[in-house]
Amino acid sequence: ATPMSVMVGVGKAAEAGVLIRNGEALQTASKISAMILDKTGTITQGAPKITDILLVDGDRARLSEREVLRWVGSLEAGSEHPLAIAIADSVKEKNINLSSVNGFNAISGQGVEGICEHRRLLFGNEKLMRVHNIDIDSFTEPAQRLASAAKTPIYFAVDDKLAAIIAVSDPVKADSIEAIRRLQRNRIRVLMLTGDNRATAKAVANQVGITEFVAEVLPEDKAAKIIELQNEGEIVGMTGDGINDAPALAQANVGFAIGTGTDVAIESADITLMRGSLHGLADAIAVSKATLRNIK
Ligand code: ADP
Ligand code: MG
Repeated sequence: ATPMSVMVGVGKAAEAGVLIRNGEALQTASKISAMILDKTGTITQGAPKITDILLVDGDRARLSEREVLRWVGSLEAGSEHPLAIAIADSVKEKNINLSSVNGFNAISGQGVEGICEHRRLLFGNEKLMRVHNIDIDSFTEPAQRLASAAKTPIYFAVDDKLAAIIAVSDPVKADSIEAIRRLQRNRIRVLMLTGDNRATAKAVANQVGITEFVAEVLPEDKAAKIIELQNEGEIVGMTGDGINDAPALAQANVGFAIGTGTDVAIESADITLMRGSLHGLADAIAVSKATLRNIK
């Protein structure tokens, strides 16, 4: 395309809230054959809320909901993960005072750990529990039920014994279904990628009409999935909002960042969707097609 038609295209896209950082991305967008969408904050609103707290009867006194929230809140005070924000909101709403935590550690793709009031606390997914040999067998069934309802179950262990399960829900954005349908009508293969567990991922994918998804992906493996598709001959678009999406956004043929996402994601992407809506994807592709038509 001529520099002039690219300039016109970039302007057109900007009117739709789609910020294009380089002319090459504008030209490649029309050739995208596969679009990978991150789940949390991209397809979903990215503002998870606590929906359920299941308390576990163990061999010691069962904790109250407030005690669970106080410990989990204290632990997550050192984390910036969206799940930590959900906990913090609830703690604040209930006026719960937090305690200090020693030895805080965030384990990528698993959860968080630390020591609080001389107790060893663990909060995270099934894998985190498995790594620490914590028995969660009696809770597989309720956890599965929560996940089937598109909620994410998070396990809380005290001194290596399961004490509670906290479920959080992160609803899909109101227009994600229609925006994804627009891509599919353009014959683009749409895939979802997430670090979340398989059952929750499946439920969310179902809600938005996506049949291909990869769950339990470690942050460092997101870019590898893009390379895999590129090796299959796909021209890959990647859309994400988080720090852990940055390598994948850079690897993709065209990277799209959600405008409300982290700065690192925006800097790694070619195109920013200022309105946060996934409609910006089909809009960008339409502008790209029009730009290329104009040069003929
Ligand atoms: P995603 O952002 O796609 O969910 P992550 O790799 O950040 O992927 O997280 C994967 C999973 O690890 C989460 O779904 C959650 O179960 C667990 N996890 C990660 N960080 C935390 C945290 N700070 N608190 C609780 N659980 C966490
Ligand atoms: Mg995300």
